[in-house]
Amino acid sequence: MPYEKYETVIGLEVHIQLATASKAFCGDENKFAGSPNTQISPISLAHPGTLPRLNERQVAYAVRLGLALGCRINPLNRFDRKNYFYADLPKGYQITQQDEPVCLGGGMEIITPDYTRNIRIHHIHMEEDAGKSTHDAYPDNTVVDLNRAGVPLLELVTEPDFRSAEEVDIFMNSMRQLVRYLEISDGNMEEGSMRCDCNISVRLKGSETFGNRCEIKNVNSMRFARRAIQYEVKRQIDLIESGGEVLQQTLNFDPVTGKTSPLRSKEDAHDYRYFPDPDLPPVALSEDYIEKIREQQPPLPWDLKQKFQEEYGLSEYDARLLTERKKDALLFMDCCGDSKHFKQLANLFINKIKTHQKESPDTVFTKKQLTEFVELIAANQINITVANQQLFPAMAAAPEKSVKKLAEEMNLFQSDDGDFLDGLITEVLAKNPDKVKAYKNGKKNLLQMFMGQVMRNAKGKADPKKLQELLREHLES
Ligand code: ADP
Ligand code: MG
Repeated sequence: MPYEKYETVIGLEVHIQLATASKAFCGDENKFAGSPNTQISPISLAHPGTLPRLNERQVAYAVRLGLALGCRINPLNRFDRKNYFYADLPKGYQITQQDEPVCLGGGMEIITPDYTRNIRIHHIHMEEDAGKSTHDAYPDNTVVDLNRAGVPLLELVTEPDFRSAEEVDIFMNSMRQLVRYLEISDGNMEEGSMRCDCNISVRLKGSETFGNRCEIKNVNSMRFARRAIQYEVKRQIDLIESGGEVLQQTLNFDPVTGKTSPLRSKEDAHDYRYFPDPDLPPVALSEDYIEKIREQQPPLPWDLKQKFQEEYGLSEYDARLLTERKKDALLFMDCCGDSKHFKQLANLFINKIKTHQKESPDTVFTKKQLTEFVELIAANQINITVANQQLFPAMAAAPEKSVKKLAEEMNLFQSDDGDFLDGLITEVLAKNPDKVKAYKNGKKNLLQMFMGQVMRNAKGKADPKKLQELLREHLES
């Protein structure tokens, strides 16, 4: 197979839309899915004489992301104009950072089932989004919505360190998790809050030099990215194997056909005529400013994951699930401050809360409830199956209520009351005289069968330890 001789090389340009209240250079509202052309003003429409003014939040968010990824923060970064003509870019240029971006270097680890590897980051720069052209709403016209014009973006450019579509997938998932932890973006790829351009080349395994690359533009779902990369890798290898040459091109991926097709080649690449934006002064970031942001950094997913493994003794798998979302991770950590039943708490979060949230995402769980819940199980006061099946939904429906009270009201406490258990045992033994005889003649493993029947009749309310004790007494008397 020729495919196995080749290695895939991928570098990403990730665009992250920032969750600021207003746009990058004016006070227009920054929100998704408003009516077309309502979140605009003379500045985002680029009327003559208007001037941009930097959104401080955009800078703070860039620094937040840069610090999380171990980048060097550029103390004197600068905005440039990238000039091109398009209907959804009324200014005729995009404000971006070409020569002096806000963050340099850094990296992020990707953890695959088989290995862990660092993906190096080349830089992160600040820029603004363009408006949105829709080509397929009307037969003869393209319509333009300028609500998105001027929305603040970060563009993160990686080194060509990926070797497979799976690695890209893992990286993008971690990046989405990170921007959500940092609360700088909602990270929704379906809504375009995170998009990536994939630069792809192939080379013979062991080769020191890179092959010619193609760039697939604006991939807005991880499923499409995977398919686009797989299609493109095969196309390039087939091309080389048949004696051809990969040309440096910008490609579009069509999810319907599953194919890539050229948008433009290197020869007709734009000359953007970058130059420093004269309307915006350089952005000077003092050490104090950077320190202040560093001090306010929220906990990062990989730090929490490590803590959960080391301090709470959880498996890598459990720790990964528990840190998927910051809100859950913080609540879990909070609970672990009050109850030492870490594993039971982890099970509660992973098996019950996560499933519940899928159906009712707005349910609020409190530390008090959750710790009470696991304490009741751990103290053997409530059977775990009963707790999960009956007490949990009741607790989710009544967030203000004491869990102990609920359990009392629902009559769920296990009974080690001798009379209650005696009654049940007598009943079961009376129904099974043959089996009682068999037990007495040495078939001791029938004890489990008796246990099961009594437990069933007790509807989970029998304390198993006490029950076993009493059963033995009955059978052996
Ligand atoms: P440009 O300035 O033309 O956009 P860059 O050198 O900045 O090119 O690279 C852009 C992206 O392409 C980066 O993510 C980088 O990692 C990636 N890249 C560069 N060369 C290759 C290659 N041969 N194969 C795959 N990706 C590449
Ligand atoms: Mg580029």
